[in-house]
Amino acid sequence: MKAAVVTELGAPLEVRDVPVPQPGTGQVLVRLESSGICHTDIHAANGDWPVKPTPPFIPGHEGVGTVEAVGDGVDPALLGTRVAIPWLGHACGECSYCVSGWETLCEQQRNTGYSVDGCYAEHTLADARYTVPVPDAVPSTDAAPLTCAGVTTYKAVKVAGVRSAERVAVFGIGGLGHLALQYARVAGGFTVAVDVEDDKLALARELGADHTVNARTADPVAAIQALGGADVAIATAASPKSFEQAFASLRRGGRLVCVGLPADGVLPIPVFDLVLKGISVVGSIVGTRQDLTEVFALHAAGRTKVIAQARKLDEINESFAEVLSGTVPARLVIEF
Ligand code: NAD
Ligand code: ZN
Ligand code: ZN
Repeated sequence: MKAAVVTELGAPLEVRDVPVPQPGTGQVLVRLESSGICHTDIHAANGDWPVKPTPPFIPGHEGVGTVEAVGDGVDPALLGTRVAIPWLGHACGECSYCVSGWETLCEQQRNTGYSVDGCYAEHTLADARYTVPVPDAVPSTDAAPLTCAGVTTYKAVKVAGVRSAERVAVFGIGGLGHLALQYARVAGGFTVAVDVEDDKLALARELGADHTVNARTADPVAAIQALGGADVAIATAASPKSFEQAFASLRRGGRLVCVGLPADGVLPIPVFDLVLKGISVVGSIVGTRQDLTEVFALHAAGRTKVIAQARKLDEINESFAEVLSGTVPARLVIEF
């Protein structure tokens, strides 16, 4: 099968032939139809973060495809069904996090396309229990971005506890941000979109953003404070500066949800402001299988729109460059 492989951190990916893997106990073999390109895959290939993946590995954790074979202990009824393969590829199912609805915090977790091979390939293996069924009404090309960008920002809006008529500022209108905006609206919030590219802000307006700010040409903190400040800020851009701006754009009692993962990201927070303004700062990592099921249900009901363009596996390095150049509206999806 064809796969895009990281052979060395920081080097271009190599598209090459590798053997089709065989499902072990509890696993399914999935023939991929669509595989989204998350900015995380670029961080992974570059080794941007403190915990680094070990080459050679196959990135990709927005995989959607059909179950083609099942390993021991897996219900054969899964054969032929369409499933999503998210970042949370496996969790222990028994620890205090797993049993309390926080499987995303499990210390035994395995991460698709990072600690185990992922979805930039014609086939991949997945732990059957951590795949999520894709409803018929959701095409694979939409389901792929929902599998990480969708579930992550849906969870961020949940964690923020967005209430109707609150003002929600979304920093970064890329793959994650364009969906964050929509979930904030589903929750009843008014929205402010912040990006450094005018095209992304035009997209945000099409998706219903109430206000937009170009952080390259204007000060988003001043612009959002002029509106009364944000009740919630969701930081998705891989830029440390935008985290500081997101924090400073909050009104008293505001909540900052940190989602983006910039390389060497440090967020200096003025303790005085944090305390006097009663601000909360929380990190949010992807979402659970239940969250993804809800994301698919919302999409099947027509409540969200995925903005994506198709690419081929052979174009993976050019696609990474496109994402980094800020010209992508809003997600690229490898179609097989
Ligand atoms: P993306 O490249 O599609 O989107 C990033 C957006 O930020 C782009 O639109 C870009 O123009 C914009 N941007 C860049 N600099 C900016 C600035 N200074 N101010 C405002 N906007 C700016 O990336 P993505 O796939 O949406 O991922 C974003 C980040 O989220 C990455 O760091 C990724 O690793 C991380 N991520 C986190 C989780 C999680 O669970 N916490 C899940 C998925 C991705
Ligand atoms: Zn992702
Ligand atoms: Zn666990």
